[in-house]
Amino acid sequence: MAKTVERCSFCGRPKKETDLLITGMDAYICNFCVEQAYGIINDGKKKTGTSKFSLEKDELPKPKEIKEFLDQYVIGQEDAKKTLSVAVYNHYKRLMQNSTDDGVEIEKSNIVMVGATGTGKTLLAKTIAKRLHVPFTIVDATVLTEAGYVGEDIESILTRLLQVSDYDVESAERGIVFIDEIDKIARKGDNPSITRDVSGEGVQQGLLKLLEGSVVNVPPQGGRKHPDQKMIPVDTKNILFICGGAFDGIERKIANRMNTKVVGYAASKVQGKLDVNNMLQYVAPQDLKSFGLIPEIIGRLPMLCHLDQLDRNALRRILTEPKNSIVKQYIKLFAMDGVTLTFDDSVFEFVVDKAVEFKLGARGLRSIVETIMIDVMYEMPSSDEKTLHVTLEYAEEKMKKANIEKLKAA
Ligand code: ADP
Repeated sequence: MAKTVERCSFCGRPKKETDLLITGMDAYICNFCVEQAYGIINDGKKKTGTSKFSLEKDELPKPKEIKEFLDQYVIGQEDAKKTLSVAVYNHYKRLMQNSTDDGVEIEKSNIVMVGATGTGKTLLAKTIAKRLHVPFTIVDATVLTEAGYVGEDIESILTRLLQVSDYDVESAERGIVFIDEIDKIARKGDNPSITRDVSGEGVQQGLLKLLEGSVVNVPPQGGRKHPDQKMIPVDTKNILFICGGAFDGIERKIANRMNTKVVGYAASKVQGKLDVNNMLQYVAPQDLKSFGLIPEIIGRLPMLCHLDQLDRNALRRILTEPKNSIVKQYIKLFAMDGVTLTFDDSVFEFVVDKAVEFKLGARGLRSIVETIMIDVMYEMPSSDEKTLHVTLEYAEEKMKKANIEKLKAA
């Protein structure tokens, strides 16, 4: 009897004309039909709003809910949390607004966060992304340069957003972008420069286009543009931009402004209330201008908030309280090997003391705990012990041998 030819049960192609023929119970499907079916499913999802970035009205989290979510992961930083929660809530509402009804169109309010490095700006942005159903990406302003210079074109910011949206332009156009280190593109000096300022003002001008909302041609693979590359037009009108920067030295500009303002009448009254140890809390748009951001950019970042320096108390809380705190992560790592891990409370105090002593900030907490734990993490998986208790003496001994310079560099 002649052998029957295996063919795709959907399109009828014989096996030899396919790259792959998958066998089912009583049928076959070829790679071409699988691809086509996948496309149909995706189209259907977009039409019925079940793509991974769809947004239902009853899913809209209220600002208080967003803040409560942030509270689970980020310690302190009340001002920034509140500002972000409101901005994101409004962003959602804007996406849902019915623009035809009364001619009132809600404009987006991009945000700028000012706070020293390691105080939680990126963490806030990342955490908010977890709670969202819109595409989200983080980009570093330091890699951007004016078109025509070495570095990445401004448009590459949107390439990342397209990538996380699986190139679904409609989704990307409702996304959120976190631009880190925005202070690094400040122009040097308060006056517009006469010479070309490749990394500063030109980049700000380019960024302005994105912030104020326009249709931008985006290279789908990022990098530098080249003439024969096919571009994808993306409208940035509804993209929310959150910018963050350390703005080193801005405290002095704030103090200058406030000093000049408060001379004379009422000076003593106002100055009496000033908290000189935390000048950032008084940051105002004109301070960003003195720092070197152009007024047009500042105008497009109407929500301004600050992050506090992390004191000893905050560092201690960061170690154990957040939902995925460093200590909780270690406990989980050991639990996966069937080991119950516990610590003396004094170990936590010791870790914080070291972070403060060596000025390592919150980032240093992880490297210090890592230094203390590395040996037991190496030994425990091969031993039969089912419990491990870390004492202060053990932690002190491990830290004595540690290379502090390496910790600082981490
Ligand atoms: P920034 O972006 O301000 O430079 P990050 O958000 O990257 O700082 O913070 C570095 C790390 O320090 C975070 O991954 C987190 O582990 C920890 N951290 C910093 N600030 C906080 C905070 N307020 N609450 C909890 N963890 C924090």
